Amino acid sequence: MRERAVSGHPDRPGRTPGVTLPSVTERKGTTNESGVRAERQGTAGRLPALAHESPATAFGDYRAAFHSARLPMALLDGDGLIIAANPAFGELLGTDPGRLTSAAAADLADLGSDPRLWTAYREVLCGRSDRLRCTRRLKHPAGQTLWVEVGVEPLPGGERFLLTVADSSDRHDLLARVRHLQMHDPVTRLPNRALFFERLSSALEAASFEPSGTGRIGLCYLDLDGFKAVNDTLGHRVGDRLLSAVAQRLSRCAERTGGRGGDASRGHLVARLGGDEFALLVENSAGTDQVAELAQCALDALQQPFDLAGQRLSVSASIGVVERTAAGTTATGLMQAADTTLYWAKEDGKARWTLFDPERNAHRMTRQALSSTLRPAVDRGEFTLEYQPLVGLGNGRAEGVEALVRWRHPQFGTLAPNRFIALAEENGSIVELGRWVLEAACRQARAWQLERPAARPLFVSVNVAVRQVWDSDLVADVAGILAATELPPELLQLELTESAVMGSAGRPLQALQALSDMGVRIAIDDFGTGYSNLAYLSRLPVSVLKLDGTFVSGFRSQEHPNPADETIVEALVSLAHRLGLTVTAECVESAEQAARLRRIGCDTGQGWLYARPLPPERITALLDADGRTDDF
Ligand code: C2E
Ligand code: MG
Ligand code: MG
Repeated sequence: MRERAVSGHPDRPGRTPGVTLPSVTERKGTTNESGVRAERQGTAGRLPALAHESPATAFGDYRAAFHSARLPMALLDGDGLIIAANPAFGELLGTDPGRLTSAAAADLADLGSDPRLWTAYREVLCGRSDRLRCTRRLKHPAGQTLWVEVGVEPLPGGERFLLTVADSSDRHDLLARVRHLQMHDPVTRLPNRALFFERLSSALEAASFEPSGTGRIGLCYLDLDGFKAVNDTLGHRVGDRLLSAVAQRLSRCAERTGGRGGDASRGHLVARLGGDEFALLVENSAGTDQVAELAQCALDALQQPFDLAGQRLSVSASIGVVERTAAGTTATGLMQAADTTLYWAKEDGKARWTLFDPERNAHRMTRQALSSTLRPAVDRGEFTLEYQPLVGLGNGRAEGVEALVRWRHPQFGTLAPNRFIALAEENGSIVELGRWVLEAACRQARAWQLERPAARPLFVSVNVAVRQVWDSDLVADVAGILAATELPPELLQLELTESAVMGSAGRPLQALQALSDMGVRIAIDDFGTGYSNLAYLSRLPVSVLKLDGTFVSGFRSQEHPNPADETIVEALVSLAHRLGLTVTAECVESAEQAARLRRIGCDTGQGWLYARPLPPERITALLDADGRTDDF
């Protein structure tokens, strides 16, 4: 292999692309005097004889083709110097083709500024590679930028080379325009979602691998409050103008706080992600404070009302702020965090920015994980029931038990109902879960009855959620379960909260009536925490009031009695009795509380004084003890 000194090697590989074409006169003296000058004298701009070409006609044809070709071309020697350039090449560079002779092709076609390209070019000239193809940006002496497709390949014989430089500026400009349209939002002229994600991904990549930056990234995810109302009441045209005005203010804000908004240049990128959602991206973030400051600036910027075609409009926005190290962060992860945080900002009252909180997020993730696995967990049998005695205050004996559900979660351990009942109500799985609880409790109560036929049977009290009354046929479920388990209806009590029965008309009322007619007792759970309309309750088929635990806790100790609570409970109990209701007190924890409740005339008590919620086998022992809870 031969090695050659190729002309045009950059002094500094990697200098800025977009070279300025050298003036040919400048280059004249720098080139090899002998061979080159001869060619210049006799054949300036003409094709010299090729070594292996002998027939004069063929040679003449090639020369004519070279001369009249519309593709800019030049013939190079083994050092990369131009032997001859055709008129099209001269035209491209705005010069006489003859003046290009002996110029270094690498300078003219910018093959030396990129080290990798330079190596590839040398490989061709040294015969180690067949061809080179690349796109370069050149600066025309007249000032304009030229985009060109450059090709270099050896001619037969391997001593000389053909350089082609096709002008692709028009195509390049067209592609750039198309890309701009694709990547920008026509309403606000801001970068759109696609460009935002492109920038975000490359920013994350750069920040993770570039030791020079801060290695951190920040994002403000903004959503206008109540924008839909603007669109709905004033029309989409005004809505669009508002978005455009908002975009301008956000861009100014991004400029003021350090970056440049509005386009994809380096700095804070402002993008419209769709609808009334905007994103402000802080590359190389200096920390949470910087991103929070940007968020505050955005809120302040939107505070002044907007004047739009005679309409004065005030808007506010909610912003989710996320700031973290770029390493290990993905675009999707960052956006999810921003989305959650934006939701918190809305939930916390709108017109504010909220910072991402990992703890709050973990809680949300657990909620989500629980919520999505509730339904399959019922099928997998992950729930169990515990039973807490309901004790007659007069004789101290258990008359019934309340069934309380627990979730034996394979990952999170045993969960109390306050962790999942509300979720089950939200996603509707309470219907299946409630049905399971009802059936398991009735089956258990019947089993106790059969196991201890001589003992006084215990009734079972089952909690029923509002949605079970509305979304399922509770009456049919209860009837079916009583029939299947053979539990007498009078041994079943259903606990509903005040909110479930208050204002009930139509379906809930009919359901309560049908259940009561069946012989099932209805109790109002946590009484006193809701509307507490006793007069109304008395008109419903309700037979038991379960006084909320806060009343009993309010009794305090003998040294510090709270007469107000005691008076209220006394009045409630006597009123309930007059209306034909019995009263159960929740959360009885001390003998003193029990004594006062007994004196007041309360019928039943439930609480740690008697027993904690127990597994079913302990209740069997309770039956053996004739319902006495002393040892529990
Ligand atoms: P609840 O129906 O008012 O049940 C009484 C709650 O008070 C139970 O909590 C019980 O463990 C607790 N408790 C009992 N005695 C005392 C005491 O002396 N002091 C104190 N501080 N607390 C006492 P748990 O088991 O965590 O149940 C909480 C709530 O979950 C229940 O309140 C009920 O509303 C709901 N729940 C439980 N099981 C079910 C169910 O199967 N279905 C539905 N829909 N809700 C249920
Ligand atoms: Mg209850
Ligand atoms: Mg209760």
